Amino acid sequence: MAKHRGVAQDKSEIVAKLPAACTDERKAVEFVEEQRWNGKPECPLCGSADVYQMRDSKTGQRSTRFLWVCRGCGKQFTVRKGTVFEDSRIPLKHWCFAFWSACSSKKGVSALQIKRETGLSYKSALFLMHRIRFAMADDVETQPKLTGTVEADETYVGGKPRHSDYVRGLVQEKRKNKSVVMAMVQRGGEVRTLPLTRVGGSEIKGILLERVDPSARLVTDDEWAYRKVGRMFEGGHDRIRHSRHVYVRGDVYTNTVEGFFSIFKRGINGVYHSVSKRHLHRYLAEFEFRYNARGIDDGARTALAIKKAEGKRLTYREPTAIPRKDV
Ligand SMILES: [Zn+2]
Repeated sequence: MAKHRGVAQDKSEIVAKLPAACTDERKAVEFVEEQRWNGKPECPLCGSADVYQMRDSKTGQRSTRFLWVCRGCGKQFTVRKGTVFEDSRIPLKHWCFAFWSACSSKKGVSALQIKRETGLSYKSALFLMHRIRFAMADDVETQPKLTGTVEADETYVGGKPRHSDYVRGLVQEKRKNKSVVMAMVQRGGEVRTLPLTRVGGSEIKGILLERVDPSARLVTDDEWAYRKVGRMFEGGHDRIRHSRHVYVRGDVYTNTVEGFFSIFKRGINGVYHSVSKRHLHRYLAEFEFRYNARGIDDGARTALAIKKAEGKRLTYREPTAIPRKDV
């Protein structure tokens, strides 16, 4: 996969602009404007392209709030309007830094690290990282279905008991907190992930039919939950008998999807330490995004994630535990 869907041309020059966008607010605004509008700014309120930058009457410089005015509807707006940046006062240079960090490291970046690098509060850094994951997330309705050979598997994450849990008798409680994650990978293509409530045939069937094209060939282990739905794929269903310690039989293996799980777990354990069930889907969206955009460079990946911030604000509001006045 040489290019990611959504990135038309080679954008490696983006990387050269990022250091300035991460330190200078004006450069950051211009950078985000360029990624969002690609030189053709339009009003996020009415869609008119008849817009102009507001200037300071004395100096003739751009207004310090980086406002635009629309001649169509007469309203003012900034590049934040209608994006995940909208109701945050965090400077865009910090957003640029966090987007870049999240897009350029394989295992992700923690809120603590963002706090240290930007001087933001931990709460603000956490808010920012969750919004970035929200921007990265794809809607299942608009994602292309996986085709060709598709490996599907599930794994358990989190809930690892610590020494203190043994002392305090909380081991059972911790084990109960383990989450199940399902992933489907098209060999040489993209991954789809989601948390499962449990490993059951009917849930897995619905998930596969929604994300995998009926023409595909399915490869799984000998977990019974895949048996019935496997017959619904025209390319057939090959199963590798992990229960009998067989891992590869010709091209029947699930190493690709297991490779994804191992990147995810290394990130969760190494960078984020632990992830609660409530936030698991957000972290999955982040790792899914990076995996699917692995064929493009860091700059293009950052630009793609920023581009995806658009529209997220207008369609629906994701509930957040962090009161907005704090950020
Ligand atoms: Zn307008």
